Amino acid sequence: MVAVSDSITKKISISLRLKQAVGLYFEEQNLSSLLPELRLQANRSKELMQSIGLTSVCIRCAKVNQGSGCCSRAIEQWYEIPTLILNLLLGCTLPQRHRDPSTCIFLGETGCTLLVRYHFCVNYLCEHIKNEIPPKDLERLRRQYGRELYISWKLEKEIWKYFNMNSCKEPSLPEAF
Ligand code: SF4
Ligand code: SF4
Repeated sequence: MVAVSDSITKKISISLRLKQAVGLYFEEQNLSSLLPELRLQANRSKELMQSIGLTSVCIRCAKVNQGSGCCSRAIEQWYEIPTLILNLLLGCTLPQRHRDPSTCIFLGETGCTLLVRYHFCVNYLCEHIKNEIPPKDLERLRRQYGRELYISWKLEKEIWKYFNMNSCKEPSLPEAF
C-alpha cells in the first residue's frame, strides 16, 4: 500500500517506465506531430506570463511566502500519469524527491519545472494577479492558455485510451489511477 504522500513519486516512476511505449503509440497513431505543437503553445503561455508581468508578481509572492507561493504540496497529488508522460516526452526531467517537504515536488528554485501542467496550475489567477494585471492582458493570457490546454487534453485523452487498451498487459497500471 502506497501512502498518499508518496503517491506522486510512484506516479513519476510509472511514467518513466511507460514513456517509451506511449511515444511509440503516438508514432503509430500519427500523433507525434502534436508534441512540438504542445511545446510551442506551452512556451508561448510562459512567454506571455512574463511579458504581461504575471511571472514577476508570482516571484514576489513566493518570496513573501518563503519560496512556495501557492505551489503547496497538496497540488502535486492532482497530477496524473498522462500529464507526467507528456512532460517526459517533451524532454523534462521529473524530480525523484522534494526540495522542500512542504511544497509541490515540481517546484524548482526559479518556479515550476514542468512544461505541461495540470489545468489548475495553468488557469489559476488569484485576486492578487487580477488586481495587478490589466484585464485585457488577462484576457489574452486566458486565450493562450486555452490553446495550450486543448492540445494537452487531446494527447492526455489518447494516453488514457492507450492505458485502457493495455491494462491487461500492464498489471501495475490500475493501481496508479
Ligand atoms: S498565483 Fe497568486 S498566490 Fe499564487 S504565487 Fe502567484 S501571486 Fe502568489
Ligand atoms: S506543478 Fe508547478 S505550478 Fe503546479 S503547484 Fe507544482 S510547482 Fe506550482
